[in-house]
Amino acid sequence: MKTLYALPCPCGQTVDVDRTQAGLAVNCACGRRLEVPTIRGFADLETKAQPASEPTSTWGPRQGVMFLGVAIALLASTAAIYARFFPKPNRIQGVDHAAVVKLVDEKTPTQTFELWSELSRGMDRQELPEMLQYWDYLAQRNRWSWVAWGVAALGGVIAAVGALMPKEDTKRRQSARTPART
Ligand SMILES: [Zn+2]
Repeated sequence: MKTLYALPCPCGQTVDVDRTQAGLAVNCACGRRLEVPTIRGFADLETKAQPASEPTSTWGPRQGVMFLGVAIALLASTAAIYARFFPKPNRIQGVDHAAVVKLVDEKTPTQTFELWSELSRGMDRQELPEMLQYWDYLAQRNRWSWVAWGVAALGGVIAAVGALMPKEDTKRRQSARTPART
């Protein structure tokens, strides 16, 4: 970031110059050609108020963390909702699809896990293999839904941490960076 100096012109206007232009000539809006002083001469010039430095970006680590958290939460909850509420339909004849889905849906994560391990042991031999497969599919799907909810909650926590991060004092940071006048 450059410090700008106001080089006065006899016409009354000033031309913005910076130290890199020391010893060169600049043109005023009135058409006069003005000599920029050498570095030493800059001390006699008035400094200009800093122009709005760097397109004032409000993005910092804080916003980044918040954005990441919200993005994770949104993606994961979308996945969870999809897994939970859009299971592929049951194609087994004579079985009420909605009833089966409801039965699995009502289970807690622990019950889901138990069901899943029961199914993987093939406990109920009375059931049709197809039916078992479908139950297994639903149980797995629900399990993933719970995992996705967990990830979504984690995203929420990350966003909250971001929100609690101290706000950056951009003004103080800028003035600290401005070189001291000599
Ligand atoms: Zn002029």
